[in-house]
Amino acid sequence: MGRKMMDENRILQGFHPSGTDNRIYRQQPLIDCLYEKCNREHKKAFMDTAHKIFCFIVVPGSVFSWLTKGFSYLIVCCYCTLGAFPVGSVIKYVGYMERMTESIQTLLGIFGSFQENEKFLADYLNFFDIENDMYQGSLAVEKRSDKQFEISFRNVSLRYQGSSDFALKNISLNLRSGERVAVVGMNGSGKTTFVKLLCRLYDPTEGEIIMNDFNIRKYDYRQYLNLFSVVFQDYNLLAVPLGNNISCDASWDKEKAEGLLEEVGFGKRYREMPKGLETPIYRNFDTDGVEISGGEAQKIALARALYRDTPFIILDEPTAALDPIAEAEIYAKFDEIAGDKTTIYISHRLSSCRLCDRILVFHEGRIVQSGTHRELLADDTGKYYEMWHAQAQYYA
Ligand code: ADP
Repeated sequence: MGRKMMDENRILQGFHPSGTDNRIYRQQPLIDCLYEKCNREHKKAFMDTAHKIFCFIVVPGSVFSWLTKGFSYLIVCCYCTLGAFPVGSVIKYVGYMERMTESIQTLLGIFGSFQENEKFLADYLNFFDIENDMYQGSLAVEKRSDKQFEISFRNVSLRYQGSSDFALKNISLNLRSGERVAVVGMNGSGKTTFVKLLCRLYDPTEGEIIMNDFNIRKYDYRQYLNLFSVVFQDYNLLAVPLGNNISCDASWDKEKAEGLLEEVGFGKRYREMPKGLETPIYRNFDTDGVEISGGEAQKIALARALYRDTPFIILDEPTAALDPIAEAEIYAKFDEIAGDKTTIYISHRLSSCRLCDRILVFHEGRIVQSGTHRELLADDTGKYYEMWHAQAQYYA
């Protein structure tokens, strides 16, 4: 049941259409078709429930309502005839009775909708109940103030579930504490998969990942995850105040958050926000909310990553929505802010990675080159040389 639910939800997620895509690509027939496919079962359940509601609630409810109405008219008229109140009050009393029967009908309708919604809600609740079957580990991650966490990949390969090909093949490397590492390569070469393995979002199919002498599987999973701040390509900000978005908590350290916003280049825009860190992002829940551009959202996501103060910071193409100059500025600044943290950048713009201590070049799931920008560029038969010159021609 769990797997089927996950598949269905993945499909549903995939067709939450954006208004512009929908119009430009005329996606409505496709969306209708997908909804039709996914909702067939729901539709049947809905029709069954609707039928039951009609038979057992709507029909008896309406009959009851009409009978009560007729009966109330009769009583009121009888009392009036017997002189209990003047004729003018008939309308008033009948009105009261009508209001009462309407309210009863509304109440019955609400009970009916509980039954109908329960079927849809059950899917979501079952989805949340899917258990994480990853081994959770129990070894405490040391709270090292010197941030000395060294991680080694030893012949690591990963094949995604249901896939026949390896996304990563035989990766071996050491990540030294405080190192600045850039990960470059073509689309689909395995860069994001490498980061996901590092953060233990997946366990390797083959090989092992060791941190300070122990396999990362042995560490308490939550504590291990707390070592990383990652800005993935598909990061999300929430429609809550800016301060909450940065701290990911109910409260925030104003000075720290403002300082970081300034450092990531969001300072000017921030100063224009009348409510400062209380300003809601997006207008989903608040008409005072502000809409932000893709580039601005990325800057906030960067500030959020830095706010957590973790020993590892990973940026998976976080600056794709920024222009090359803004990206270069942010990377230079980031280098300064990141201090002694181990930092891993994934970027398509090789110029941004030039200053890193080491550049790993991924190709078809393998690391095909590793070295500084200067070393890699010296090899004119290498992948890095080829990619560098392919990009350089656009800036020449
Ligand atoms: P990159 O970040 O370099 O663009 P990825 O690590 O995202 O590459 O992908 C590497 C390979 O793994 C690609 O062939 C991609 O299609 C595949 N892949 C990525 N994520 C999944 C997944 N969740 N399930 C199956 N295959 C995947």
